[in-house]
Amino acid sequence: MQSAVALPFSQTPLTRPSRLLGSTGSIFSTPRSLRFCGLRREAFCSSPSTHLTLRSDRVRIPSTRFKVSAAATTNGAPPPKSFDYDLIIIGAGVGGHGAALHAVEKGLKTAIIEGDVVGGTCVNRGCVPSKALLAVSGRMRELQNEHHMKSFGLQVSAAGYDRQGVADHANNLATKIRNNLTNSMKALGVDILTGFGSVLGPQKVKYGKDNIITAKNIIIATGSVPFVPKGIEVDGKTVITSDHALKLESVPDWIAIVGSGYIGLEFSDVYTALGSEVTFIEALDQLMPGFDPEISKLAQRVLINPRKIDYHTGVFASKITPAKDGKPVMIELIDAKTKEHKDTLEVDAALIATGRAPFTNGLGLENVNVVTQRGFIPVDERMRVIDGNGKLVPNLYCIGDANGKLMLAHAASAQGISVVEQVTGRDHVLNHLSIPAACFTHPEISMVGLTEPQAREKGEKEGFKVSVAKTSFKANTKALAENEGEGIAKMIYRPDNGEILGVHIFGLHAADLIHEASNAIALGTRIQDIKLAVHAHPTLSEVLDELFKAAKVEGHATTKTGDAKIKLNMNEDGPRGPSDDEKQPSLSKDLIVRSTSLSSFVEDIYARVMSLVSRVFV
Ligand SMILES: Cc1cc2nc3c(=O)[nH]c(=O)nc-3n(C[C@H](O)[C@H](O)[C@H](O)COP(=O)(O)OP(=O)(O)OC[C@H]3O[C@@H](n4cnc5c(N)ncnc54)[C@H](O)[C@@H]3O)c2cc1C
Repeated sequence: MQSAVALPFSQTPLTRPSRLLGSTGSIFSTPRSLRFCGLRREAFCSSPSTHLTLRSDRVRIPSTRFKVSAAATTNGAPPPKSFDYDLIIIGAGVGGHGAALHAVEKGLKTAIIEGDVVGGTCVNRGCVPSKALLAVSGRMRELQNEHHMKSFGLQVSAAGYDRQGVADHANNLATKIRNNLTNSMKALGVDILTGFGSVLGPQKVKYGKDNIITAKNIIIATGSVPFVPKGIEVDGKTVITSDHALKLESVPDWIAIVGSGYIGLEFSDVYTALGSEVTFIEALDQLMPGFDPEISKLAQRVLINPRKIDYHTGVFASKITPAKDGKPVMIELIDAKTKEHKDTLEVDAALIATGRAPFTNGLGLENVNVVTQRGFIPVDERMRVIDGNGKLVPNLYCIGDANGKLMLAHAASAQGISVVEQVTGRDHVLNHLSIPAACFTHPEISMVGLTEPQAREKGEKEGFKVSVAKTSFKANTKALAENEGEGIAKMIYRPDNGEILGVHIFGLHAADLIHEASNAIALGTRIQDIKLAVHAHPTLSEVLDELFKAAKVEGHATTKTGDAKIKLNMNEDGPRGPSDDEKQPSLSKDLIVRSTSLSSFVEDIYARVMSLVSRVFV
C-alpha cells in the first residue's frame, strides 16, 4: 500500500507527542516506531518551482470565483494582500479529497498538499484494504459453512485460500482507488503539491523544504494514526497495528486483539475466516462498547460466540512484548478498575486496535495560537479552528480525524464539503447525528443517531417520551431467500412527533440499509411521512419499511417536507409539478393539509400510490 521507498521526514522532523492523554484520563505514550507513513522519494527530488506554477493546461471548471475576503489579522501577523489560491488543503485523505472536489466545482482555485500518498488512511491503510479483506472473509465464511451451502442444495469441496493472493487483492484495490482519487483531482485542476505542510501564519502555508504559498482559506485535513497505549511494544511483525495487519503478511494461529471496537471486530471476522483463533482484550465490562447494547448482545451471539473467539473484558493490556528468541508474544493483563495483575497471555501475535490518535504534530499551530486538545484541533460546529483564547482563527478550518468529531471517512468528506459551502457564501452546519456508521462484519452492523440509553437520557432531560420499534430479518423474503434471516433493525423515536432519534441494524447488508434512516434524519423527515414511502418487493429495504410501519406515532404532526409535499406532487396521472397557486408557499394550505385526519390522508395516498403502481406494472 505504501510506496516502495518509504523515507522518514528528515527535513521537517516530526516530533510526535511522546505522551498523550487517553480518554480515560491516564497518560499514554505513542510508539516511537510509528513514524509518519513515509514520504515518497520524488517529494525530495522535485523542484519546488514546478509545484508553484499554476498549470494552464489543466481542465478547470469555468465559473466565476466566489469572493472570499481575507481576515484583517490573526494573532498580530498581517495576512497576505493577494493569494496564490482560494483554498489550500493540507492532507489528501478522503476528507481533503472531498473538500478539493467540491471546491473546484464551486470555482475555487484549489491546492492540496500531501506528505505521503494520496488517499490517506482510508484508501491506503483503512476502509479500502480492510473491505477487500472482508470481502474475502465473507466468501470464505460462506464456503466453509457446509450447513449454509446445503440449505441451498449446493455442494462445495473444501475451501482454501492463498494468503499472498488475498493480500494482493487488498493492495491492488488500494492502488486502484488511490489512482482514481489522484486522477479525479488532477482532471478537475486541483494542484497536488507534495511535501509536509504546515501553517506559517494567517493564510500562509509552507510545504516541502521551503515552498511558501498563500490562500484565502486553509483547511487542515491531516488525519490520524493508530493509537498505541503505553507499555505496548509494536514490532510490526508479531505485535501489530491495523497498518501492518492490512498487509496480511501472516495469518497467526492465535492472535489477541486489543480493543473490540469496529476495527478490532472487523479484523476478528477476517482472522477467524482465515483460520486464526482470536482472543479479545477489552477494557470495558462488555464487548463492542460503542454499539447499542441490544445490538451488541445480538452481535455477540452471532459474531463472537459461535466462532473461535474468546475474550477478557474489564482488563487492560498493561504490557505487551513481541515474540523473540523462540518466546511467544507476552501480554500482561491488569484489572481495569483495581489495576491488579489478572493474567498473562502467551499468543502468536497481538493486534492493537485501541483507537486512533490525531496526526497534528509539526503543523505550525503555534503560529496561529492554536493549542490542541489531546492532539485534536479544536473546532466549532462549522469546523472553524478555535485558538488558545477560545476565539475563532479567521480563514482556518480543520476537518476529519484531526478534529476528532467523528472519525469516519464519509464524515471527513462531509465536513470538507460543509467548509467549502461556507467559504463560498452558503452557511452550512453538518448534523453529525445524521451521519451513519457501519461495521463490515458478516453480517454487518450499522447505526445512525442515538443509542437507546442515550435517547432515554435525552428524553428524561428534555421531557419527552421515547419509544422503540423493532423488526426482524426473519420476516424479510429477500433475507430468507439468501438464508440470512439472522438480524434485527431497531428504531428509537419520539412517539409524540415521529422524530427518528436513532436506527440500529444488525443483519445482511446493514451498512447499505442504514442510509434511508440517515437521510430521513438529515432531512428532518418524520416517521408518519416516511412510512408511506414505497419499497420494492422483495428487497432487504423492506426491513426498514416494516420498521417505520411498526412505529406508533401519537399525533398527526408532520415535517415541512412531509404530507403537504406528497399531496401537492401527486395527481391521478402520477407525479406532477405544483400548480400555480401551489408554487406560492401558503401557511393556510400547509395547515389545511396538516389538519387532514391521518387515516383519510393515508387512505388517500395509499389509493393514489396503488393506482400509480398498477399503471406501472400492468
Ligand atoms: C483499519 C481501518 C478501517 C477503517 N474503515 C473505515 C470504514 O469502513 N469506513 C469509514 O468511514 N472509515 C473507516 N476508517 C476510518 C477512516 O479511514 C478515517 O476516518 C479517514 O481516513 C479520515 O480521513 P481524513 O481525511 O481525516 O484523514 P486521513 O485519511 O488520515 O488523511 C490524512 C492525510 O494527510 C496527510 N498528512 C498528514 N499530515 C500532513 C502534513 N502535515 N502535510 C501533508 N500531508 C499530511 C497524510 O499523509 C494523509 O494522507 C477506518 C480506519 C482504519 C484504520
